[in-house]
Amino acid sequence: MRGLLLSRGCGTVAATAINRVRRMPLRASLVFLGLAAAAAASAETTLLVDARIHTLDESRPLVEAMAWDAEGRLLALGEAEALREQYRGAREIALGGQTVVPGLIDAHGHLMNLGHALLRANLMGATSKAEIMERLKAHARDLPQGAWLLGRGWDQTLWPEAEFPTAADLDAHFPDRPVWLERVDGHAGWGNSLALAASKRELSGDWQPEGGRILRDAAGQPTGVFIDSAERFIVEEIPAPSAEVDALALERALAEAVKFGLTGVHDAGVSLKQLALYRRFADSGRLPLRIHAMANGDAEALDALCAMGHYRHPSGRLQMRTVKLYIDGALGSRGAALLADYSDEPGNRGLLFAEPPAFEKILRKAHDCGAQVAAHAIGDRGNRVVLDGMQRVLGEAAASDHRWRIEHAQVVALSDIPRFAQLGVIASMQPTHATSDMRWAQARLGEDRLAGAYAWRRMKESGAVLALGSDFPVEAVDPVLGLHAAATRQDARGWPEGGWIASQKLSLMEALRGFTLDAARAGFAETEVGSLEPGKRADFVVLSRPLEDLAPADILDLRVQSTWVDGERVYPAR
Ligand SMILES: [Zn+2]
Repeated sequence: MRGLLLSRGCGTVAATAINRVRRMPLRASLVFLGLAAAAAASAETTLLVDARIHTLDESRPLVEAMAWDAEGRLLALGEAEALREQYRGAREIALGGQTVVPGLIDAHGHLMNLGHALLRANLMGATSKAEIMERLKAHARDLPQGAWLLGRGWDQTLWPEAEFPTAADLDAHFPDRPVWLERVDGHAGWGNSLALAASKRELSGDWQPEGGRILRDAAGQPTGVFIDSAERFIVEEIPAPSAEVDALALERALAEAVKFGLTGVHDAGVSLKQLALYRRFADSGRLPLRIHAMANGDAEALDALCAMGHYRHPSGRLQMRTVKLYIDGALGSRGAALLADYSDEPGNRGLLFAEPPAFEKILRKAHDCGAQVAAHAIGDRGNRVVLDGMQRVLGEAAASDHRWRIEHAQVVALSDIPRFAQLGVIASMQPTHATSDMRWAQARLGEDRLAGAYAWRRMKESGAVLALGSDFPVEAVDPVLGLHAAATRQDARGWPEGGWIASQKLSLMEALRGFTLDAARAGFAETEVGSLEPGKRADFVVLSRPLEDLAPADILDLRVQSTWVDGERVYPAR
C-alpha cells in the first residue's frame, strides 16, 4: 500500500548526501540526510494547492493538494498544509478553488483521420444540401485549381428529404474539380462526376462488390454514393497526402485533443507508416499526450507486432500491443450485421466483413502473438460472431488478464450482454454515438432490439468494464459531450425530454470513470494513469466548474482550463 505522504527522493542527490554524512555521528547523519534529501527533492517538486481534486481513487476521492516530482510522477496527495510542510521550497501553483480531474482518455479515436478531417471541409451537422454547398465553397477558396475537394461529416438523416444525395447535386456547383465527401460514420462516400470518372473500374452495370454497395439508378448508372468496400473505387484514386501534410495533420489532431482535456488516446487502427510518424513525434518530444496505438487489421502492422512483440516508446507516450479488427460496418448505412432484418429494409441484415471461421483464424493469430484484440462490432450478429470467436480462441484463458475488447458493442442481444463480463471482454463504447443515432435507430432496429442497443447501464451492471470514447472524427473530440451524453442521453439541446431510453444513463462520475480509470485499464495503463495517486503520472485537467451538484444538463458548460501531462502544461501551450 502507498502511504499518504509517500516521498520519492532524487537518487543522485541522495547518494551525494550519503558520501558526506559518512564522517558524521550516526544520529546527526540521519537528520542531515533527511533534510538534504527533502530540500533537494523539494526544489524539483511542484505543489498544486487550493484545488478540488477528484482523484478517482476510492480510498480518497477528493483532496485539495497534490505534489509531483521533476519527472511528473505524483509524490503525494492530501491537505495543502501537510504537503507544504513535507515539500518546503517546492514550486507552488494555486488554483483558486478550481476543479481537477485525472487526464481524460478517449478509448477509441482516430488521430490521423481527425488531423486530415481538420484539413478538410467540415460538413458535420449541416442540416441541408444547400448548407453543404456553402461550406464546400468556402473551403474550396484555399485550394489549387483542379485539386480534389475533400470533405467529411455529411449526414443525410439531418436533411429535410433524408435521402442519399447524388453526383449531380455536386456537379451543379463543382464541375471543374473532383469532389469526394465522406459520410459522418465513415462508411459511405459521395462523389461528383469527375471523382467517379477518376475510377479505373467500370462502375455501371448490375454488379456489386463484396462487403459494399454502389447506389445506382434504374439504368445501372452510379448515382454518386458508395457504401463500405465500394468506396475504394474512388478513394484509391485520391492522391496520397505528402509526408509533410501527414505531419501537419497529426500536429493539428494532437493540438485539438489536448485542447479538450485529452491526455490519452487509444488510436483505433494505425498502419506501420503512421506508427513511424508517431514515433518521430515521440522522439522529438512532440507528443503532448499518450497514444495507445492499435495495429490496423490483420496486415503488416500486426505482422510487425508479432515479430517484434509489444512496442513501447521510452517516453511512455506511445505504445502498440493491440490489433484492431473489424467484423461489420455501421448502423447508419445499414452495414452493421444484424441477426434479423433491418426493420426499415426487409431482406437486409447488413454485412459481415469476414466469415466466422476466417475471423476466428485471425483472432487465433493475434492470440498466439500475445496481442490485445480490439474488434469493431456494431450489430447484434457482429457482436455475437466476435464473442463466439473470442470464447473459442481464449478458452480457459478467458479468465486471464487478456483485456480483449469489443469496439462499439452498439447493438447486443440481451442474452449476449453477460458474456462480456464472463469472458473478461471490455466494452469500449461511445456515448455520443447514441445521441447521434437516436433519431433513427428505432427505425433501423425496431423497439425490441433497442433494449440491447447503446446499453451502457446493462453492460455495467453485468460486470463488464466500460471504457468510453468518442470515435472521433466520427463524433466531435470534446469528451465533455461524451460525459453529457452518458449522463443525459440527450442531445445538446436537451432532446428528448428525460433522455432517450433513460434507464441506460450513467451518472457523471460513472461516465468520468469510463473516460479515465477504465479507459486506462483498457490500454493496460491503469498503474500509470487514469486516477491521481502517488506513484502515478501527473496527468490531469483543470475544469471550469465544480462537479458536485452539477446538474446533468449543465455538464455541457464544463470547459477545460488547462491540460497537464507528466506534470507539464500542454494546453494552453506555453
Ligand atoms: Zn472507430
